[in-house]
Amino acid sequence: MWPYHPDLLARPVPRYTSFPTAAEFTGAVGAAEQGAALERTSGDVSVYVHIPFCEEICWYCGCNTSRTNREARLTSYLDALHREIAVVGSRLGKDVRVRRIAFGGGSPNAISPLEFVRLTDVLTLHLPLHDPVLSIELDPRTLREDWGMVLRCVGVTRASLGVQTLSPRLQQAIGRVQPREVIARGTELLRRSGITSLNYDLMYGLPGQTDEELSETLAGAVELGADRVALFGYAHVPHLIPRQKRIDASALPDQDARFRMAWNGWAQLTGAGYHPIGFDHFALPGDALAQAAVAGTLRRNFQGFTEDQAPVLLGLGATAISQFPDLIVQNEKNAGRYRMLLSQERLPGALGIVRSAADQATGLLIEQLLCVGEARVGRDKLVQLAGSLAPFIERGLADAREDWLVIHASGLPYARTIAALFDPYRQDSMRRFSSAV
Ligand code: SF4
Repeated sequence: MWPYHPDLLARPVPRYTSFPTAAEFTGAVGAAEQGAALERTSGDVSVYVHIPFCEEICWYCGCNTSRTNREARLTSYLDALHREIAVVGSRLGKDVRVRRIAFGGGSPNAISPLEFVRLTDVLTLHLPLHDPVLSIELDPRTLREDWGMVLRCVGVTRASLGVQTLSPRLQQAIGRVQPREVIARGTELLRRSGITSLNYDLMYGLPGQTDEELSETLAGAVELGADRVALFGYAHVPHLIPRQKRIDASALPDQDARFRMAWNGWAQLTGAGYHPIGFDHFALPGDALAQAAVAGTLRRNFQGFTEDQAPVLLGLGATAISQFPDLIVQNEKNAGRYRMLLSQERLPGALGIVRSAADQATGLLIEQLLCVGEARVGRDKLVQLAGSLAPFIERGLADAREDWLVIHASGLPYARTIAALFDPYRQDSMRRFSSAV
């Protein structure tokens, strides 16, 4: 097992899907900066489309999503989204090439297949698509047969299923009941529909979860043939996510058990032939994510680990975040205000941060520590952080070599904690983050 040092995991740290993190966004950045950034964008671009609806809301979920119980609200959101796509498309530089589109949420299959086709038509009409790779997050509970044909016709080749656990007892405990047959049927439908890379999102650290229950779920994921597995630790933060109050906190595994579960998951999945990506993601050797990890080209963006190399990610939809080399901007979070802005054909950027040259350098350093396990951090930084790095180096989790910092395989669970040492914003507000394991 990885060496366990609870003192080094006591400090909550960000997931670092961006740098600076969303905790640093302010209203000083908005639509004006967003528009200017769109106009100076060129080259390869990836797009993320946010659908903030689900048919059922899971108790653990921290996503910005709501129930699809009011047709009018859903329709007006999609109208606004269509307008945003047109407005953004009209502001983009001429030589932009959209090479990837990811649909996420929420659950994109909370809208109807017909609405999804309309959405892809609008994207085709207004954005410079260059044979993009299409991916989608799906809720297996509402993945009906007609979605299969639509995904094939539109050309979606990658999908991610929210599975979390195959244990019926734990599914009850987290408010997401979806029998194994539902997952198996959804998987089979997606394979028939041309999905060549299929991810399962799974969780450890669930209330009352045993090692055996986790092992059975992992074995099920392997048996059902997931190409990728993301094994997240459940973060219980009801002060930030009130819907989590329905989860029995008294039954949550303690830090020791969580660490053991993370290790067990790593050992079981790598033993089954998966390539580890960081310490909690896994991909079969033929999958593009594993190939990027082997080639040393793995990246990290708002969707987590990715092989995507595009320097710009455009987020479309309420709360969606766009990342440019020198700017991060988040769309209006309030759905009503988002619709109002788009009814006036205004860009919906409302929050964000300008990425200074120093931010960009720190962001690259953190990304390399998390994706490659090493970074040239510079002698000055090593000297400046010698005291903070010492507990990791003395325990053999990392090493300073000339001006490089190298995280060893035994230090993988501590990578986010080590990365946080280089984050100048991370001196306060730790309550906003979760444990690294
Ligand atoms: S289906 Fe996914 S996005 Fe929707 S509530 Fe459940 S976990 Fe959240």
